Order: sequence, then structure tokens, then C-alpha cells
Amino acid sequence: MKKAVKILFTILITFMFVSNVFAGTSGDTTLKDLKDKLAKEQANVNKIAAKQKQVQTNIKKVEKELDALADEIEQNENEIKASQEKIVELEDEIVNKKLEIDTLLNFMQVSEGENLYLEYIFKSKSFTDFIYRSAVIEQLTSYNDNLIVEMNQLIEENKKLQEELSKKIAESEVSVSKLSKTLSKYNLSMEDLVDDHKDAKADYEASKKEVAAYEKIYKQKGCPETMSILDCVDVPYADGFVRPTKSGTITSNYGLRYHPTLHYYRLHNGIDIGTPTNTPVYASAAGIVSKITRVANPNKRNSSCGGNVVYVKHRVKGKEYTTVYMHLHSISVKLNDFVTIATEVGKSGGGESYDYCTTGPHLHFGMMQGSSYVNPRNYVSFPSLGKRYTSRY
Ligand SMILES: [Zn+2]
Repeated sequence: MKKAVKILFTILITFMFVSNVFAGTSGDTTLKDLKDKLAKEQANVNKIAAKQKQVQTNIKKVEKELDALADEIEQNENEIKASQEKIVELEDEIVNKKLEIDTLLNFMQVSEGENLYLEYIFKSKSFTDFIYRSAVIEQLTSYNDNLIVEMNQLIEENKKLQEELSKKIAESEVSVSKLSKTLSKYNLSMEDLVDDHKDAKADYEASKKEVAAYEKIYKQKGCPETMSILDCVDVPYADGFVRPTKSGTITSNYGLRYHPTLHYYRLHNGIDIGTPTNTPVYASAAGIVSKITRVANPNKRNSSCGGNVVYVKHRVKGKEYTTVYMHLHSISVKLNDFVTIATEVGKSGGGESYDYCTTGPHLHFGMMQGSSYVNPRNYVSFPSLGKRYTSRY
């Protein structure tokens, strides 16, 4: 059920995306289109940053609550300990009081004993004195009896208190486990957001350079912003496309698929060509390098999903196409370089240690007509899934 919903959702999003693209662009990409896209990408970066901030606030709040609960538990545990010590103290006192009573009673018994009775009487200055002594002893024993009753009551109260405190601790522990789960959820979404932010930022930075480069050319040539890039930059004419590597095995087709590492259905917007790392990747047709996305931190390549990406713009049979070379291990071209099918755009990468979205060394080869992704099979002759090719034609 969950999967079905995800598929439907993805189809809907894809449909919206595609129809939006068709509705929005009637022809080839212009500098104005690129600027609009740049603004959207910047808004996206800001949106993700705002979300990060919100999640960070939530994390801090939960951490504070967890700290407070830990303090509460510690305090309750200390109170239980104090209460236990109090009970031990009371029990000791009871023992002492019982001992005192016994001593007093013994004295009475001894005093009332046959042999010592007289002795005691004689020791008493008078009979009144004897009566007085007996009364005092009786008072003392009953006073001690009362004390013992009170102390036993105190022990019972302390035991009840301990039960209540234990209950409170158990409740706090339930809250702790609930909050810990919430916290780990927040932390996971924070990790996602950090990755999203890096990718969005990399896209934005690449687009910024792309816009700046075209702006310079448009200015030099005096082209209006609404003129197509093909016309202003004079992108070379090409007849068609060839395979981007001399050999390779098709490991994944274009289309909706369950993403192997992201674990949801989404449009796989290109063809995966299994190639050893560092295989030369060539431009699929003559054109111009229109955009380069570089990984933010080359020493930590797996921080990015796409890795290094080169985009090449083509003019084939009068239409604007862009070929996309993703997960590159290294980039061999510069922005706005004119390329032919003999030009190496980079070396392939895509290994596990490389990008977090890939599972093995490969080139992801994508193709756009205008600004929407199309199936490269419709333009390049590729063998079927799992088959290997050994030439570029
Ligand atoms: Zn791919």
C-alpha cells in the first residue's frame, strides 16, 4: 500500500514537472530562463536552510526536555536513597528504644523480685519514693512504646514515598524513551537536510557560474536576454549523438525505478553505464560545455548525490539538447569550452565511496530536450539492459 502510494505520488510529481516544463517553455533556453531558474534554486537553498534551522530548534528543545527529565530522575533517585537511609536510621532507633524498654522493665522485674524487693525498698528513702520510682519507669516505658509506634508509622510513610518516587521515575523513563525516539527522528531528518542543502547549494553555485558565463557572452555579443543560448553563443550544429564511452554495460534504464540507496520510487532520468572508475567519458555530440557542478568537498565525495557533473549543450537538427554526465571522478573541460565527440569531458566515477546515491562504478548519462529530461535511448543507440557495447556507434 505504502509503495503504491509512493508510485502514484511520484507519477503525479513527474507529470506535474513534465507538463509544467512543456507549458513554461515554448522553445530553446534563454539567458532569462537561466536567471529565473537561478532565483528558484536560491529560494530552494534558503528554504532548506530555514527547515534546518527549525529542526535544529526542535532538537535543542527536545535535548533540554531530556536534560530536565534526567535531573528529575536523579533527584527522585536521591530522595529514594535518603528515604532508605531514614528507614535504616529509624529501625536502629527502634532497636535502641526496645533495648531501653527492656532495661527499664528488667529493672522493674528485678526490683519486684522477691530477694531484691526489700533491698529496693530499703534503697528507697520511703514507700512514697518507691511508688514514685515505679511510676517514672512506667511513664518512660509507655513513652518509648509511643515513640516506637510513631517510628513505625514513619517507616511506613517512607516506604510509600519510595513507591511514589519509583512510579515517578518509571514515568520519566517512559518520557525519556519517547523523547529519544523523537530526537533520533529529528537527527535523521537533519542529516537529510544537511545533504539536501549541500546538493541544492552545489546546484545553485553551478547555475550561478553558468548564468555569469552566459551573461558575459550575451553582453559581448549584445544579445537580448530573451534570445536563445543556441543563437547567441552560436552552439555548433550536430547531426546526432553517439555513445559517451568506448565500452560499457547498461546497468539501469531510464524511467521510474525504486532507488537503490534512497529507497523510494523516482524518475531515473538517465541511463547507467557500468564502467571501471577513471574510464574516459566523451561528449556525445558536438556542442558547448554549459554547466559544471563540482562536489563541495573533493576529499569527502560521498557527501553528494550526483558528484561531479558536466552538462553539454547541443544543437541537433535545429533543436536544443543538453547531455548530462554524472558521478564523474574528474572533470576535463571548462565552462563554455566547445567540444566535439572526440573531446573527453571527464573520467568516470560512481563507486560506493564516491557518491552516497550510487552503489557501483558507473556513468549516469542523461539527456534533456529544452529543459525536460528525455530517454537517451531515443537518440543514442544503446544495447538492452545488462548487455555490453564495445564501440561508440
Ligand atoms: Zn543513474
